[in-house]
Amino acid sequence: MMYPKVAHPQLILADRIFDGVDGRAREGQAVLVSGDRIDSVGDVEALSKECPHGTVEVHLEGTTLTPGLIDGHTHLSLAGDGRSYDEMFSESDEMMVVTGAMNMMKHLNAGITTIREHGARNRVGFALKEGLGRGYIPGPRMLVSGRPITCTGGHFNFCNEVADGEHEIRQSVRRLVHEGADYIKIMASGGGTRGTIPGRASYTTDELHAAVHEAKHYARTTAAHCRAKESMVNAVKAGIDLMEHAEFLDPDDEMRFDPHLAEMMAESGIWISPTLQAWTKYPRIVELRNQRDLGALSHDGEMELQQLEARAEVRLDVMRKLMEYDIKDRVVPGTDSGVGILAFGHLDYDLELLVQVGFTPAEALLSALRISADAVGVSDEIGTIEKGKVADLVAFQGDPTKDIEATGRVEAVYQGGVRLR
Ligand SMILES: [Zn+2]
Repeated sequence: MMYPKVAHPQLILADRIFDGVDGRAREGQAVLVSGDRIDSVGDVEALSKECPHGTVEVHLEGTTLTPGLIDGHTHLSLAGDGRSYDEMFSESDEMMVVTGAMNMMKHLNAGITTIREHGARNRVGFALKEGLGRGYIPGPRMLVSGRPITCTGGHFNFCNEVADGEHEIRQSVRRLVHEGADYIKIMASGGGTRGTIPGRASYTTDELHAAVHEAKHYARTTAAHCRAKESMVNAVKAGIDLMEHAEFLDPDDEMRFDPHLAEMMAESGIWISPTLQAWTKYPRIVELRNQRDLGALSHDGEMELQQLEARAEVRLDVMRKLMEYDIKDRVVPGTDSGVGILAFGHLDYDLELLVQVGFTPAEALLSALRISADAVGVSDEIGTIEKGKVADLVAFQGDPTKDIEATGRVEAVYQGGVRLR
């Protein structure tokens, strides 16, 4: 990724800095940025003396400065405007690239400076990364899967990477790596795609293992879409690196927590991305709650809100039970943006929901920073405010380590030392 050169070193001062290293926020600190890198972080007075001649001071009063957020799960080519997959995938590839460019801007403005793009049709995901790399379009740093691997008739089969059996799956991994995939995404269960069954596995353990084995050969990690309990078991056994959704669904589409499976997950050390705003339809809950706060919620709206809240509780409760297995530091927040009503620009919703299942605000924030950077393999470059790291920074109004909703109040975003807003 190319950044415009910044002529002067910058000393950035905020009320407090959350460096993402140890989960604490500190007052009286500043960050010295030189070019696109963090030069140093520390006590304001001491750092002011070290500043080279010509350093520009930037005061972000009333804010908390953190590393740029990481969203582990996005679908850039989809608009998140409530249309069904069938409707959204009737668009041309060209329109999907345009949609992606719009979504990248929305995420960047919300302080999300790195994303995983979890699968688009044909070359769309690769084209977006290429456009970003050339500096044609602005956007978060991107890790792309290209197309998700799926079985015949499987979830997202319209992206055109269908593979059945170990041989074809290995071929798919090789093809995707050749085309530029940074990691491999595989659909291990059904999902929202018409004709698929979310509560049933779509690949055997052996098939998933073929993907893992081939991906490892090319030094790529694997992420598996797992809504079905059966697919979660298969993913753990196959050695998948990151499990998406983890909904504990049975074939009858009911969610039932399974302590034995939770134990397996904890022991394996698999990364888990629970995509909580997706299942709970949280953007709609927020919208209705806002109407209620303004005294503008209709009777029908009140009924809808009650239903959505009750439904959300089922999902959150499963997550609370899973958190009893001491795996907070394996949780990677992901928005699943683009799908259904999930518009881009709201990782704050997933962080709010993590707090609702027992994370402290600081733990939730950390999960979208250092922990996510580790999970997606970019922790040598980003995820913390430390000397030598890329200067991707966000300033939130208030203190998100006390009030997680502050992660929805973005004051400034820096990407590679360049202030974007
Ligand atoms: Zn997804």
